[in-house]
Amino acid sequence: MQFIEEHHDWIIEARKKTLEKVQARHDFFDQLPLSTCKQIEEAKGRLKTIIEPMVEYHSKEMGVKPTAITYKKMISRWGQCNVKTRTICFSMYLLLLPEWCQEHVVVHELCHLLEPSHNARFHALMDKYYPKWREARKETKSYGK
Ligand SMILES: [Zn+2]
Repeated sequence: MQFIEEHHDWIIEARKKTLEKVQARHDFFDQLPLSTCKQIEEAKGRLKTIIEPMVEYHSKEMGVKPTAITYKKMISRWGQCNVKTRTICFSMYLLLLPEWCQEHVVVHELCHLLEPSHNARFHALMDKYYPKWREARKETKSYGK
């Protein structure tokens, strides 16, 4: 109790900051409403026209071939690669990112078909196939935080 009393102002301030961050995150994802089937279908359609050509171009360059590409309403990550089934899933919220960040996510997930872990080899592959990946990763991470 004494600790709480002594740090009262600090606690109030920290709670306020946390709430603001949560609100900012909600505001970011709310820019793309995905609550109805119509909204989801429309977003998927738009995303396909952006992502598919990127996948096609980069998979050729890299000599890989994903067995399927799917799109999900997920906010925990931008993409996900299942190396066993060789399928890639992208977040529909990629629609909220600038093109070079979307492309970075595409190359990142395709790279997992060559190297499952985020190790030195993975980074070398990223250097080769998407040289500005470090800057793109930094910018991508700044969205939806
Ligand atoms: Zn990864």
